[in-house]
Amino acid sequence: MTGENVTRQRIVIAGAGIGGLATAAALGHNGGDYDIEIYERADAVRGLAGSGLTIWGNAVAALGRVGLGDAVKELGSPLESQVVVTDGGSTLTEAPIGRFQREHADIGVGIRRQALLDMLLRAVGPDRVRYEERVVGYRATGDGDGVDVLLQSGGAVRADILIGADGLRSAIRRQMLGDGDPTPLKHMVWRGISDSSAHFPAETVLMVYGAHATRMVAWPVDDDSVCWSIGRNGTPARDSASPAVLKEQLLSFIDGFPKANRHILENTPAERLIRTDLFARKRLNRLVDGRVALLGDAGHAMPTVFGQGACMAIEDAVVLADCLADAPSDQTPDAGLREYERRRLPRLEWVREQVFKVSRYQEWESPLLVTMRNTVMRTMPASRQEAMWRRMFAFDPGRPAEERADAGH
Ligand SMILES: Cc1cc2nc3c(=O)[nH]c(=O)nc-3n(C[C@H](O)[C@H](O)[C@H](O)COP(=O)(O)OP(=O)(O)OC[C@H]3O[C@@H](n4cnc5c(N)ncnc54)[C@H](O)[C@@H]3O)c2cc1C
Repeated sequence: MTGENVTRQRIVIAGAGIGGLATAAALGHNGGDYDIEIYERADAVRGLAGSGLTIWGNAVAALGRVGLGDAVKELGSPLESQVVVTDGGSTLTEAPIGRFQREHADIGVGIRRQALLDMLLRAVGPDRVRYEERVVGYRATGDGDGVDVLLQSGGAVRADILIGADGLRSAIRRQMLGDGDPTPLKHMVWRGISDSSAHFPAETVLMVYGAHATRMVAWPVDDDSVCWSIGRNGTPARDSASPAVLKEQLLSFIDGFPKANRHILENTPAERLIRTDLFARKRLNRLVDGRVALLGDAGHAMPTVFGQGACMAIEDAVVLADCLADAPSDQTPDAGLREYERRRLPRLEWVREQVFKVSRYQEWESPLLVTMRNTVMRTMPASRQEAMWRRMFAFDPGRPAEERADAGH
């Protein structure tokens, strides 16, 4: 796309979450000739105060491809090891995940959600985001050469490409796939970030399995703070208890858990506890419709096992930007979007398969099943676990179609 008649492609992104911002940052970094605008329904880019993330090596490597790898590592806390124990303290599995990540990608980090969002927003440039603008749908233009993006405020904006990065209840997905609401999972989590990391093992993701399918996972997000979540089986509902009473309830759920776990919960102010009901998207065979693409949770929201949801949104963003940049200049952007779908679906399918498998056995409550699960985990050959981790952490941006043809595929 060189020469005097070239017009800049106008790309509209619905949603300024991790996926939408990462996409804008990746497109900007690739030096493509784009006008990028992000429409966000909220009045700011905001992550809940008690919310932290694992941004694993695969996503750090993806961010590295667009010049943001060092920034995310500076803001986060490295994750070198993952340990799963029972509430009695006996080890079920232990993995040197730092080594696996470095060998395949880059070291992953624990990070506050707000810190990640702020970093992405700085990279994108705050002026690109239009706040309090909800996208409600889209319409292919009469000439088939673009898309009108429909806003709740009544207007429509013309774009060459629309990226639906509008999360779990995506309006863009509703129109593209018409597959209804996300599926409620039969478990929920409470989360927080502690003001102390005393007793907590350094650079470690610590997961504890207790009775009644209670599980607690925690990891540092900086030297003094540990992000944690406590999960239990149950259906979506509201907590009616006061924050102080809720905190007492949570402490009772983890009665008998290792001291490190109790300490971080005790050192989390009750007002900062968050309850989240969990949902997922089932179907995953399509991400693109003409000039419109789904990205992040809008396409593939998954259970929180492995903490890969945001990481997949980041991988999507970087691959999408690559595909648009690689698309032959004599073709419309549809080809780039189709290539994005082709490169992403197999990876997403595999990650989701691992996530749903583990999610199911985390829900087991019967003592017989729990004993069986724990025995399998204890005796599973290290090489099998290692193979899974290595594949999870390997970020493969995929190859352009012509390279595949050259390789005889
Ligand atoms: C409890 C919990 C823990 C998690 N932990 C991890 C973890 O450790 N690591 C990890 O990688 N992932 C984790 N995830 C998953 C991760 O949070 C999501 O996968 C990630 O936030 C998806 O990013 P997204 O940008 O696709 O969607 P979102 O973060 O949902 O962002 C969507 C954005 O679009 C906006 N929006 C929505 N509708 C519209 C509209 N119609 N018009 C305009 N704007 C709109 C929203 O306001 C929002 O800003 C966790 C999830 C949960 C629930």
